Amino acid sequence: MSLDGTYDAGNIFAKILRGEAPSVRVFEDEHVMAFMDVFPQARGHTLVIPKHSTARNFLEEEPRVIGPLMLGVQRVARAVRAALEPDGLVITQFNGAASGQTVYHLHFHIIPRWEGQPLKGHGVGGMADMDELKTLAAQIAAKIS
Ligand code: 5GP
Repeated sequence: MSLDGTYDAGNIFAKILRGEAPSVRVFEDEHVMAFMDVFPQARGHTLVIPKHSTARNFLEEEPRVIGPLMLGVQRVARAVRAALEPDGLVITQFNGAASGQTVYHLHFHIIPRWEGQPLKGHGVGGMADMDELKTLAAQIAAKIS
């Protein structure tokens, strides 16, 4: 998929938003939903998506969505830090297949990093244990402020 294209309402994140596909949710407000990445690049890898959006990537997003979305990303990132106490946090967002994008509903990755622990490759790690994801989600959710 190139940078240009049409939003597909059947993408997995749209299905998660509509409740048609499962997710391990961390946080939700009027504007954003956060849930655990099922193929985490590190423990605590969390995704934040806009709820009212048909943008495939950041370049397409409407300005009115960006402010609340970025506030949501910061809010969840602060909770990830408070819950898991990483040494650092990577926040990433991919635009187009050439950049590594695989799901075409705008989303931000929040990936905790610990000294000496290498990052797993983007999209190459195995599926997480669901019970562990639920535990992590609860820990992060408890730190949302
Ligand atoms: P992208 O490659 O588009 O930047 O990121 C998509 C992310 O979605 C990847 O990190 C991938 O692991 C994650 N992902 C793919 N399918 C699912 C799914 O069904 N549920 C969840 N929670 N994450 C998914």
